Amino acid sequence: MIESDFIIVGGGTAGCVLADRLTACGKFTVLLLEAGPSDQRLHIQLPIGYGMSFFNPAVNWMYRTEPEPALANRSGYWPRGKVLGGSGSINAMVHVQGQPDELADLAEAGDSEWSFEALAACIQRARERIEGTDVSHDTHPLCSTFIKAAQEIGFNSENDLSKIGADGVGYFRIATRNGMRLSSARAYLRPAMKRSNLAVEIEAHATRIVFEDKRAREVHFSKSGTAMIARARREVIVCAGSINSPKLLQLSGIGPALTLKSNGIEVLCERNGVGRNLQDHLCIDHLYRSRVPTLNQQFGSIRGKIAAGLRYILLRKGPLALSVNQAGGFVRSRSDLAAPNIQLYFSPLSYTRTAPGTRTLMRPDPFPGFMLSAQPCRPTSRGFLEITSADPAVPPRIVPNSLATEHDIAEMIEGARLLRQLAATSSLRDVIDEELQPGSSVQSDDEMLEDIRHRASTVYHPVSTCRMGRSPDTDVVDSSLRVYGVDGLRVVDASIFPSIPSGNTNAPTLMVAEKGAEIILGKSGSQ
Ligand SMILES: Cc1cc2nc3c(=O)[nH]c(=O)nc-3n(C[C@H](O)[C@H](O)[C@H](O)COP(=O)(O)OP(=O)(O)OC[C@H]3O[C@@H](n4cnc5c(N)ncnc54)[C@H](O)[C@@H]3O)c2cc1C
Repeated sequence: MIESDFIIVGGGTAGCVLADRLTACGKFTVLLLEAGPSDQRLHIQLPIGYGMSFFNPAVNWMYRTEPEPALANRSGYWPRGKVLGGSGSINAMVHVQGQPDELADLAEAGDSEWSFEALAACIQRARERIEGTDVSHDTHPLCSTFIKAAQEIGFNSENDLSKIGADGVGYFRIATRNGMRLSSARAYLRPAMKRSNLAVEIEAHATRIVFEDKRAREVHFSKSGTAMIARARREVIVCAGSINSPKLLQLSGIGPALTLKSNGIEVLCERNGVGRNLQDHLCIDHLYRSRVPTLNQQFGSIRGKIAAGLRYILLRKGPLALSVNQAGGFVRSRSDLAAPNIQLYFSPLSYTRTAPGTRTLMRPDPFPGFMLSAQPCRPTSRGFLEITSADPAVPPRIVPNSLATEHDIAEMIEGARLLRQLAATSSLRDVIDEELQPGSSVQSDDEMLEDIRHRASTVYHPVSTCRMGRSPDTDVVDSSLRVYGVDGLRVVDASIFPSIPSGNTNAPTLMVAEKGAEIILGKSGSQ
């Protein structure tokens, strides 16, 4: 049996930060269990390669939601990273911190540890490892046309979209360094792996946490089909992400009693919040046929691909070194709002004909095209997830409950209207040949909503399924990220957010992980 002071379950965005921070002082031994393989693969390190990880079961859990009545009964596709670096190894790398509102929610749910000032220090520490890189000089020329269009309708230009409180449009900064993906596996774990007090087990799927007198003591895991046990002298820290963290707690007897009993699992600790409060970002894309060349031409021809490949090999630059979400911003759909409520994306390529189950970014439409997208920042719909079997190999039932509130419906329509306003500006009108989707037949609010129901999709930011808060009845972890009702067990990842961050969730998760490490070291150091 392997024994260590701490066992971290999940080597994703948060888990890699903790593996580094908890081993840095040399006082503790740490075992990191990651269900997926190493991230040393070309399609992970090469920024544009995320198109190839999108439907790749070797590095992706590839979850599906239940059919959603509010989304024309469609079942959503929810990729999650199953590899060192986690979803941070397969994501689109857009690096934003969000708005002060969500920091206020963390402060309210936590205590003085989670004050704005305390979190600012964590953000700063994370930025020292992963600072969004300014790639504006390398983006497609149409990005500046998009920015001009946004200015025409009164939005600010924002130089640094990665800062907290970014307000306006500009170029997204991305999590890369020297033209390669900069996940927390690369920025935190890789250097930490040189330490003798850190052990990393890959392809090690944690199946259950075992308790002695309600104290987490063992993690049972399966590696290459062999059942194994690791023992924690101090704590088990669950960093398995917003889907798998609540799933592992439920498999271990912590969750809604009814769910556990109906799956034959003994209730160790009834916690109704485990798997509840699921929040996510829904996004609508408008696609246009363009009058000027876009990435479609570069990626769609052998000559274009060779040129992009050479540019990357020789200079580590060009479209292969970037995300396809090259520009965007945080804007208000109504001028009376105190803070931005919509995140915009501009992508200089289009996919109107992608076959289901594929998303090779290098094979877009055969004609010039681009996409404008709008995503409400703080939806109020709440979903849930639950296990449907005691077998850890069975995926959980995910019910996002999208568009369950009037607020969310109204903001989606307002977002879609903003895209139409942008497309109608003189800057963009000049380059648009035709709106391909939703198309000119969609005009009224009802028609827009119908289009949203048929085409809107997640942008892969599920959070809050092990929410931090003050009430053990509805929340899962306290302000020290300890699971209520048991000892020696914490959750530290995107599942603890009390409310969804306004923008992309990777940088906020790095902040939470930095905070978690600080809290754990503070407490453990004094033990
Ligand atoms: C396709 C996609 C695009 C995205 N684009 C962006 C973007 O552009 N910008 C942005 O900021 N955010 C983006 N995100 C979201 C962002 O990457 C996540 O919010 C963030 O990575 C969450 O971090 P986490 O630590 O909570 O979970 P994860 O990073 O998902 O880590 C969880 C880890 O735990 C492992 N694990 C799970 N269960 C077990 C188990 N039982 N045993 C052992 N290991 C286990 C997983 O394999 C995984 O490695 C995107 C996500 C996806 C999927």
